[in-house]
Amino acid sequence: MKIILLGPPGAGKGTIAKALMQLDGSVQISTGDILRAAIAAGAELGKQVEAAMAAGDLVTDDLIMGIMEQRLQEEDCQQGYLLDGFPRTIPQAEALKTMFAKLGEKLDCALELDIPRDVIIDRLTTRRTCTNCGEIYNVKFKPPKVEGICDVCGSAIVQRDDETEEAIENRLQVYNQQTAPLVEFYRDEGLLVSVPTSELETVMAAIKERLQD
Ligand code: AMP
Repeated sequence: MKIILLGPPGAGKGTIAKALMQLDGSVQISTGDILRAAIAAGAELGKQVEAAMAAGDLVTDDLIMGIMEQRLQEEDCQQGYLLDGFPRTIPQAEALKTMFAKLGEKLDCALELDIPRDVIIDRLTTRRTCTNCGEIYNVKFKPPKVEGICDVCGSAIVQRDDETEEAIENRLQVYNQQTAPLVEFYRDEGLLVSVPTSELETVMAAIKERLQD
C-alpha cells in the first residue's frame, strides 16, 4: 500500500499508520518523528527546525522535500508506505506528484481522518509520547502501566512542547490554512477516501473498498 494519511494533528494518523503497517509490511514514515529524532540527536537538521516545531509552525517545503526524496527511495519502502504528516502543503503535494511521475510510482489513496475539532483538542492535551520509541499514550484512555514510563521501552514519557494549549491552537490554524486544501487537491486527483472516524475497523473497510475498485 502507498497511502497518504491526511487529517489535523491529533486525528489519529500515527495510530492508524502503526496498525496498518502490521498488516502488510508497509512502513510508517512520519516526518514529525524524523524531525524530532534529529532534535533529540542534536543534529544540524534538528537545530534548524527546533524553534518552528515548538511553536507549531511548519518547517520549509525545501527542507521536507530534501528529506522525503531520499527517504522514499530507501530499501524498506519497496513494500509500500504510509505517509504520516506529509505532504502538508500544496507545494509538497505537487513536488511528490512530480517525484512519483519520475519514478513511475503511484499512490493508492489519500485517506482523510475527518475528526471534529473538540475531539482533537481533548486528544492532544491529554496525549503523552515516549521520548525514545515514539509510542503514544493518553492520560485518560491509555495511561502507561507505570506513570511517566513507556511500557514498550522503559524510557520517559512526556507532553510534547507543541502540545501546550497555545501551540495546539496554532497547529490547528496552520492545518486549516496550509494543509486542509490538500483534501480538495486529492479529491481532484481521484484519490481521496474520507472517513469521519479514526476507529480502525471503519478505516480498514474504507481502504479495502478503495483498493478493490
Ligand atoms: P507531526 O508530528 O506530524 O504533528 O509534526 C510535528 C511538527 O513537525 C509540525 O508541527 C511541523 O513543525 C513539523 N512537520 C512535520 N511534517 C512536516 C511537513 N510535511 N511539512 C512541514 N513541517 C512539518
